Amino acid sequence: MYGAIEAGGTKFVCSIGNDKLEIIKQLTIPTVSPEETMPQVVGFFKEFEKQLKAIAIGSFGPIDVTEDSETYGYITNTPKLKWRNYNFLGYLENHFPNVKTAWTTDVNASAYGEYSVREGINNLVYFTVGTGIGGGGVKNDEFIQGITHPEMGHVSVKKHIDDHFEGICPSHGECLEGLACGPAIEKRLGMSSKDVLATDPYWDIQAYYIAQSAYNATLFLSPEVIVYGGGVMKVEGLLDKVRDQFKKINNDYISLSPLEQYIVEPKLEDTSATIGCFAMAQALMK
Ligand code: ZN
Repeated sequence: MYGAIEAGGTKFVCSIGNDKLEIIKQLTIPTVSPEETMPQVVGFFKEFEKQLKAIAIGSFGPIDVTEDSETYGYITNTPKLKWRNYNFLGYLENHFPNVKTAWTTDVNASAYGEYSVREGINNLVYFTVGTGIGGGGVKNDEFIQGITHPEMGHVSVKKHIDDHFEGICPSHGECLEGLACGPAIEKRLGMSSKDVLATDPYWDIQAYYIAQSAYNATLFLSPEVIVYGGGVMKVEGLLDKVRDQFKKINNDYISLSPLEQYIVEPKLEDTSATIGCFAMAQALMK
């Protein structure tokens, strides 16, 4: 059996999976503080400790993913103060000394999940557009990372001519996340992105920003497919608008497969990160 921890900013989803990467048992725990949340995580997995081969974690960040770093396995300078400089992996390994562990970002875990269910794909980029915007990449079974994990949600984007919103990113103001994450939409329009009608002209502005992220990813990483997950991307017709805008921006500069196969929705819907963690845990055993 394998363990998966999708550690998000509002909730933790802990899951037990089998060799076929099917979810056998699952528990959702609110993300409060390490003192309140983590004992519940340990309690959930203790029941399966003898059968567990490996646990993989996909965590909100930023996190330290550099294996020879002294703070490897830590959540680092997150705005969630209770979790800042928290040794997540160390806590788990103390409680499960005989279980192997894998550690990455939540968006990387989702990328790995989508990668693991696409045969013949060796290079994939995954973006999530929700409370924040994040992006991760997998190439030949490995995450694309170096001094740290990518932060594709904070790229600079060209402002839409009809958009006069100042952006909400505390670090960059008008970066992609600052302009196009769920809370940015809510602040700009005065209502939750869930309540903005699919016919609202705002979605053309949103698509313009998302399309730029796809174009940047294309130029930098040459992925074979780009997957867009997260709550905001569920708006009907948004992905089509993104493809239309992408086509204009690309202007046939890079030749690509049909955009319906290149810019796509997740195959795993809301379980990308959990299945990705199972696949990472399984990969540890090879
Ligand atoms: Zn930013």
